[in-house]
Amino acid sequence: MHQVRIKNTGETYSVGKIICLGQNYLDHIRELGSKMPDRAVIFCKPPSSLLPNGGVVEIPKYSNDCHHELELALLVGKTGKHIQEKDALSYLAGYGVALDLTLRDIQSEQKSRGLPWEIAKGFDTSCPISDFTPTERISDPNNLQLKLRVNGEIRQQGNTNQMMRSVEKIIAEISNFYTLETGDMILTGTPAGVSRIETGDQLEGTIEHVGSLQVSVA
Ligand code: MG
Repeated sequence: MHQVRIKNTGETYSVGKIICLGQNYLDHIRELGSKMPDRAVIFCKPPSSLLPNGGVVEIPKYSNDCHHELELALLVGKTGKHIQEKDALSYLAGYGVALDLTLRDIQSEQKSRGLPWEIAKGFDTSCPISDFTPTERISDPNNLQLKLRVNGEIRQQGNTNQMMRSVEKIIAEISNFYTLETGDMILTGTPAGVSRIETGDQLEGTIEHVGSLQVSVA
C-alpha cells in the first residue's frame, strides 16, 4: 500500500516521501539520554514501510528490540519550498495517527558507529498509518492529546503542546531542506514512554480529534 485516504471523502493520495522528526519532545530526549539537538533531527522512511490501519507488524529477524513511537502525522496537500510559518498549515491536506516503529538495538549500534540508522526505521510495516482527518476539522494541531495502549495498558501519553517545534515550524524548517510535494507525509516525533513490542501484542494509538490506529504484531 502506498496510498492514504482522507476520512469520509474517499479522496486518496499517493504517498511520496515520509519525513520524520526525531527528538521533538523533551521527555523523550531525556528517556533516551540523547543530547538536545540544535538543528531539527530529520530522517526518512520509504513508502514501502507503510502499513494500513488494522495491519500486522512484522519485526525483522535482525532485531530483538522493536519499540513503538506514537506520532501525529501530517499529509502534504500541495507543493512548496521555503514555506513561511504563517502559511504552513495551508500546505496540509490532513492529520493522521502514525507509529514510527524503531529497531532500538540496531539504531543504537548504528549511532555508536556514527552510521546512518535508516535500517532501524524504514523496514516493511514500520510505518502504520490511519486515515487522515481533513485539516479544517482540527482547530489547533499544537494542542492534541496522544495516547498509546499496548494490550489495553497505557504506555505513552502526551500532548502535541509538549513538542519543541510546532507543526508550523516543522513544516517551515523541513521545507528549507526538501521540497514538500503533494502526498508527502511528515511524522512529528514521539513523547516519552517508548517501549518494546512483542509477538501477539495489540497496539492502539489515539490522537484527540484526529482518530485512532490499531495494529497487531506477528
Ligand atoms: Mg519517532
